[in-house]
Amino acid sequence: MDDLIEDGKNSRWIVCKFCQSKVLRPSTARYEERELFLPFMQKKEDFTTENQEGETLKSHWLVPDMFAFENVGFSMTVESIKYLACADCERGPIGWHDITDKTRFYIALERVEHKQLPQ
Ligand SMILES: [Zn+2]
Repeated sequence: MDDLIEDGKNSRWIVCKFCQSKVLRPSTARYEERELFLPFMQKKEDFTTENQEGETLKSHWLVPDMFAFENVGFSMTVESIKYLACADCERGPIGWHDITDKTRFYIALERVEHKQLPQ
């Protein structure tokens, strides 16, 4: 995992595991450890607020600004938590956002792929 982090930031492109849609360009997100609960990945149409089976993940990319994303979508909202999803294939959640704090968008390292691409 160390080669994914350079000066505390993402050294590679962050892309969707399923469709390779670009989520973040290199050096736009800071590595942060925080325990966050994310429902298991699924297609957007299968999301329900009743079915909240998931897992607690610890390794995340912290993005301070919504406009830093190349592409991102939202899946479901549960109380003040909005779950981030791929903007193209709509699979998710790939990340976590509390709408009461507009400076913290989290992308879970395990839910995305890290790629070296031409800038
Ligand atoms: Zn996708």
